[in-house]
Amino acid sequence: MTLSAHRRLLVVLWGILGVLLVALTAAVTALLWNGRSDALAQGEARVKRFAAGAEVGMNRALLSLDVLLASTEEMLHADTSGRASFDAVGVSGLLRGAARQNLMLRYVALLDETGALLAASVPREGLRSVSLPTGFLAAAMSQAVPTLIVSQPQMSALSSERVLYVARPLRLDDGTPLLAVAQVPVEALVSVLLQGQGVPEIEVTFERTQGQLLLGVDASQGAAEPVRLAAPALHEEAARANLADAWLAPARLSGEPATVFARPLLYQDLWVTASLPQALALTGWRDGAVTVLAGAVLLGVSLILAGVFATLYSRRMHHARQVEARSKALLDQVVDAMVSGFMLLDARFCIAQWNQRFEEMFPWLQGTLAVGLPFRRVFETMVHYHLPGAHAQDKRDWVRARMARQRNPKGTVELRLPDGHIVQVTERATPDGGLVIICHDVTDLRQAAAEIEHLAFYDQLTGLPNRRMLLDQLGKACAGAERAGTLGAVLFIDLDNFKTLNDTLGHETGDLFLKQVARRLVASVRAGDLVARLGGDEFVVVLASLPADAVQAALQARSVAQKILHLLARPYQIAGQTHHGSCSVGAALFGQVPQTAAEVLKQADIAMYQVKTNRGNSVCFFDPAMQVAINRRARLEADLQAALDADQFLLHLQPQFSQGGTMMGAEALIRWQHPERGLVPPAQFIGVAEDGELIVPMGRWVLRTACQLLARWQGQEGLSTLSLSVNVSARQFRQPDFVDLVLQQLQHTGAPAHRLELELTESLVLEDVQDSIAKMHQLRTKGVRFALDDFGTGYSSLAYLTRLPLHRLKIDQSFVHHLGERHIDDVVVQTILGMARNLELEVVAEGVETQAQRDFLAQHGCDMYQGYLFARPMPVDEFEALCTAPAVPLP
Ligand code: C2E
Ligand code: CA
Ligand code: CA
Repeated sequence: MTLSAHRRLLVVLWGILGVLLVALTAAVTALLWNGRSDALAQGEARVKRFAAGAEVGMNRALLSLDVLLASTEEMLHADTSGRASFDAVGVSGLLRGAARQNLMLRYVALLDETGALLAASVPREGLRSVSLPTGFLAAAMSQAVPTLIVSQPQMSALSSERVLYVARPLRLDDGTPLLAVAQVPVEALVSVLLQGQGVPEIEVTFERTQGQLLLGVDASQGAAEPVRLAAPALHEEAARANLADAWLAPARLSGEPATVFARPLLYQDLWVTASLPQALALTGWRDGAVTVLAGAVLLGVSLILAGVFATLYSRRMHHARQVEARSKALLDQVVDAMVSGFMLLDARFCIAQWNQRFEEMFPWLQGTLAVGLPFRRVFETMVHYHLPGAHAQDKRDWVRARMARQRNPKGTVELRLPDGHIVQVTERATPDGGLVIICHDVTDLRQAAAEIEHLAFYDQLTGLPNRRMLLDQLGKACAGAERAGTLGAVLFIDLDNFKTLNDTLGHETGDLFLKQVARRLVASVRAGDLVARLGGDEFVVVLASLPADAVQAALQARSVAQKILHLLARPYQIAGQTHHGSCSVGAALFGQVPQTAAEVLKQADIAMYQVKTNRGNSVCFFDPAMQVAINRRARLEADLQAALDADQFLLHLQPQFSQGGTMMGAEALIRWQHPERGLVPPAQFIGVAEDGELIVPMGRWVLRTACQLLARWQGQEGLSTLSLSVNVSARQFRQPDFVDLVLQQLQHTGAPAHRLELELTESLVLEDVQDSIAKMHQLRTKGVRFALDDFGTGYSSLAYLTRLPLHRLKIDQSFVHHLGERHIDDVVVQTILGMARNLELEVVAEGVETQAQRDFLAQHGCDMYQGYLFARPMPVDEFEALCTAPAVPLP
């Protein structure tokens, strides 16, 4: 949150609080004001009620006194005619009677105009005189219209209580003015004023218009004796306010602000007033108001406190957010300043953060990355760059593998990016279940390391591995060959006469020459082989994974060596000039016995030295026995070539019989009629012929000879129905013109194609199934038939059997030999027979030597038999004689 947003929040908060406080204040004020007005109105009503009651009471009291005093005049008229005839005793008696009617007064007296006591309702001994307040007598007597007049209160000499006098002037019949006076204790009038209610709060007065207070009852003093009014006279008030209604003014006695109500009495100038000080009127309201105010204040304070707390909290939050924002900004800065690519994933493996460097390292992710993006999507994008041409399924597998590895981060891995960069990726789980990915570009580091390694392990001139690398690799190859039971060979190559070339033409030319030699050497070996430069004019070639058979291995090594001899002997073009060179090659096999690299190298070196001493440009093996074998092989090859030229080969035929014992055909088997060694069996030369190209012309000879036989047999009794089987080698069958060759031979000789059967092996067919099927079909349509030779030793798979246009299976002799001896062979033969029956193929069992083998085969439905039990392979004329003889001997 920004600073201004934070401020706005506070302003809104306090604005709301302010409005709430103002509303609270207004409500409380209104409530209090209304309450106050109500209290005042109630007070006014009370004051009015009270004043009205006092008015009625006082009027009644004064009227009763007035009536009593006035009635004495009538009594006097009836009793006395004038001053002279005044009978004080009689009048006193009358007065006593009258006074008894009014309980309020103490006594009634008659005074003359001087104030002398004439008569009284109390005995003369008790009352000698009546001491009226000063001026009262004169005021009473001087009235124009005689009426009741009330004195100021004063202390009674008689009863020592406060009293006031009520008087009314009288006249005797003779006109003598008298004054009838009644003494009334203040207390009696007070109880009239208070109407027995004893309400202390209301101040009650009995006063004259002009401002003399006659009686006053104060809330605090009760019926005390206030002497003066604390407020202006009523006539003054009347000038200001309407006395018919209550008005707000100082209370009549205490002078406190009060609601005042005055009522005039029946007698002129006399008033009763009631004042309720506002302080008292508002007592109840004030108590309530205090509660309300207290509540309101509490609420207000709570609101303010809440505001304060909210402000403090907000400030603290704001501060915390600022601190967090600052530290995040700092982190961002740090992360962006990192030289490493950085990415943070959350617990769901979605992107939480990454830096600029990360995008620079993986430019193809630009535009893809987004906060919250599942990392799987990153992989899905990356895979298009890492495996551009791959299948969709491979891409999916890649993504899945990456995801799986990411779920279980295992420290650091190195990625080679499509743009050639090498990135070290470190993945670490975070405590919250997420992942931190750090990518470090180590391209330069690796390049430097590679360069250092190159300097240490490669020859600077030719770029070939140097001696150190050679020893290392050769050591590994030796150990590997020994472990795997295979063989390898080291060819030690030394250039002949290089020193002379170097000395005469200069080092530069020598260097260029060496470079060309290196290139030729590399071109002469397979990808898995190693070419190294030992220094000077010495090179070494390591051939790995040669056949396990030592002679075979040596032959292959020799063939490579010869290729090298041939390549290096070709002319060199250096600086526009042609040069010639040759080399000496020493060879040593490894893997036969435990040996170190240095030992093997030494042997090859020794062999090379031997070549050098024989004037170079040749190859020699270190192992003498090996050398003998090699030499023999070489001689055999040469001899075979010569034998072909000299037509020393011939065919023997081995008959094949049906179940019933009829001869059905024969297999043609080659023999070599050697001038010195006699008849050589094919096992001794077919392999050699197959290794080189010799097998092709040899196979061609067999095929031609077989076709000639078939052609000759046509129309001959006992021979014309026979088929002839010819073995075909892989290399021969693979010749592109094989089909044409067979068809040509058939055509040239005129042999019936359907009598010719070609024997192929499983491994031959499987070497290139498509090519095999195509060739077999082409020949099959011309009538040539096919048998699968040595069946059971290879894959024996139904899947391809059904696709081949086969006529026969030949159960391999190894199974037939052990029939009845090895249970497993019984089962294999039974299975082959069952399988062939299902595929409607004929089965020939070869190598049948015993009757038991024959019986077993017959019992399980074998169609044809070939073996020593019936006949050995025999020369052609012998065979033909056998067939054309009248009776064929049957075993
Ligand atoms: P193969 O095709 O399996 O020929 C059958 C071999 O078993 C023949 O040996 C045959 O003399 C021998 N044999 C026949 N019946 C019996 C028997 O009852 N017991 C025993 N122990 N052996 C029996 P051979 O003639 O020495 O031929 C050996 C192999 O040389 C042949 O095996 C074939 O693979 C190859 N071969 C022979 N002639 C030719 C040929 O003209 N061209 C090609 N490419 N290979 C040939
Ligand atoms: Ca055969
Ligand atoms: Ca065979």
